[in-house]
Amino acid sequence: TLPTKIGTTNGSFVDRMLHGNKTMVLFYGSQTGTAEDFAQRLAKQAKRYGIAAMVVDPEETEMEDLQRLVTIENHLAVFTVATYGEGDPTDNAQEFYEWLRQDANDLNGLHYAVFGLGNKTYEYYNAVGKYVDRRLSELGAVRVAELGMGDDDGNIEDDFIAWSAVFWKNVCQKYRLVRDTDESTMRQYKLIKDIFPQETIFTGEVGRLKCYEKQKSPFHLRNPFLAPILANKELFKPDSLRSCLHLELDLTNSRLSYETGDHVAIFPTNDSYLVNHIGELLGVDLDEVISLVDFDEDAQKKNPFPCPCSYRTALTHYLDITSVPNTQILKDIAQYATDESERALLTLMGSYSEDGRIKYKDWALDGCRSIVVILEDLPSLKPPLEYLCEVLPRLQARYYSISSSSKIYPTSVHLTAVVVQYLTPTQRIAKGVATNQFRRMYLKEYDPKPIFYDNNNNDETSFCYRLPIYIRKSTFRLPFKFQTPIIMIGPGTGLAPFRGFIQERHFQKIQGKPVGETILYYGCRKRDEDFLYEDELKYYESEKTLELHVAFSRDQEHKVYVTHLLRLDGEKLWKLIINNNANLYVCGDAKHMSRDVQMIIVDIAQLFGGLTSEGAMAFVKDLIVKGRYSQDVWS
Ligand code: FAD
Repeated sequence: TLPTKIGTTNGSFVDRMLHGNKTMVLFYGSQTGTAEDFAQRLAKQAKRYGIAAMVVDPEETEMEDLQRLVTIENHLAVFTVATYGEGDPTDNAQEFYEWLRQDANDLNGLHYAVFGLGNKTYEYYNAVGKYVDRRLSELGAVRVAELGMGDDDGNIEDDFIAWSAVFWKNVCQKYRLVRDTDESTMRQYKLIKDIFPQETIFTGEVGRLKCYEKQKSPFHLRNPFLAPILANKELFKPDSLRSCLHLELDLTNSRLSYETGDHVAIFPTNDSYLVNHIGELLGVDLDEVISLVDFDEDAQKKNPFPCPCSYRTALTHYLDITSVPNTQILKDIAQYATDESERALLTLMGSYSEDGRIKYKDWALDGCRSIVVILEDLPSLKPPLEYLCEVLPRLQARYYSISSSSKIYPTSVHLTAVVVQYLTPTQRIAKGVATNQFRRMYLKEYDPKPIFYDNNNNDETSFCYRLPIYIRKSTFRLPFKFQTPIIMIGPGTGLAPFRGFIQERHFQKIQGKPVGETILYYGCRKRDEDFLYEDELKYYESEKTLELHVAFSRDQEHKVYVTHLLRLDGEKLWKLIINNNANLYVCGDAKHMSRDVQMIIVDIAQLFGGLTSEGAMAFVKDLIVKGRYSQDVWS
């Protein structure tokens, strides 16, 4: 678990609000940065109504102080909270969530609003947002706007914009406010160009300065371990046009440990080609060192990312330059387009109008236009680079299901990552940040070199790349009893955690433990193209550890998926679940596969268990609640 209150020096948020004459505070529960971004945007929008607002990470403050917030006249607390995994709060909101559950809390008279971020493909859609909203009300707080819910499976940007319009309307009515300025021209950070001493300049660290040079445990989210890559291999067959990599990361001397089923988080770096291209498009010397410092001296975070650093470092390590910028960013940068039609296009997309939303979806989202593409396609748009650095979101860590067993590999984690590359509607090849970094490392084409080389092994012939990582605990676990049968459903890279599960079951078996059935439903396109870990799986099958079922979707005329195989085996699966207390595990695509699998289990319960449709659904829900049906899915 994460150490709490890391680097807390900020003290009470209420004191800071009083000091800075602030009335509005925004708390975020963020795992991938979107909830934090929404909080920042609301704080920025507050300026146009003359409200001074402050954004606060609940992990870095005393949330008990909410009880004191009511002493500030016209106060307002806003919560933008994401739901993560199986209806859980994000890591940084965990402690606040626990605190909120306590009955002794009295939040009488606290004015609040909640916007939840979730994904409809998951079982517990927006569970945390709903809980926070309900619980605050139960504790006596007064809702200023109805709960807003964003669906990441649809268009969360749209959901947020629609909700924020209603939210501001309510706030204006309640506090009798009128809009008086346009926030898009306001800067949050002061640009400092100076001659900074070399030893004070960040070079890509996400935590403490020089933490990659002198690594010190404990390692976690804010102090990642620079793990040497022990192996990086292609898993797809040579003829395949796609790529899937198997990486092994060394944990020796890190004091990091994991359990089979956990996740590893990796801080990726952007492609140097894209970074250089931004420099060229804007005509900026990327090696210039700058610092961005919040004008608001009471702000919890003084800088948008570790400063001082060069523009190159900021664009390589700290900023998201490949996803589609949100509408607020487009609105903010519109002023820097000298061509009238280009400025009008950006302004329209940044407006909260219906036409603007349609244009944003069509041109930006569906067009897969990142900031780099936007700068290319709108040649008159030349925002100052320091302003782009202010408004672009932070580059986030990527999670991977660990594909090894901690019993067999206690000092390394394996991961199985399919390389993301696709052709966009504007005929550009878009590349996923992390997986293409792994790919460049696999091809030994990775740049920048220095800090990611093995410090002890710096010669060009035998170098070893490193990746900044930390381990995130999950609830995806093998059953406690060895005898319990397990049914694993994991097409594509959904196989990842099951490789660890199978290794561990085999280990237990050769130790003489009474291991129950270990059944895998795996799917890929073609046996000769993308059958992951074929030899290993065949080996476990021959050793009678594994019962393997593979669906090759494209090896015959009719497409066959794991879901077809599950249907065919319905009766057998039902018996295992009912008579032998088998546990079910699903891993991989959250969008379609996991939902389809759940529907099939419901069908099987009806067909072979004689349950009604409602009864079958309740049965599956009960399996989930009891931890007998676990999902490790992502979209
Ligand atoms: P990014 O730069 O993040 O780009 C990916 C984004 O590109 C997508 O989100 C989507 O918006 C867009 N995109 C992709 N394809 C298209 C398309 N055809 N058209 C339009 N847009 C598109 N991944 C694995 O490979 N193996 C795992 O074991 C694994 N485990 C995970 C476990 C968890 C808990 C989670 C949350 C995710 C896991 N993932 C896994 C996914 C992984 O975290 C990354 O999202 C994935 O590797 C892509 O990262 P990237 O940086 O390469 O791509």
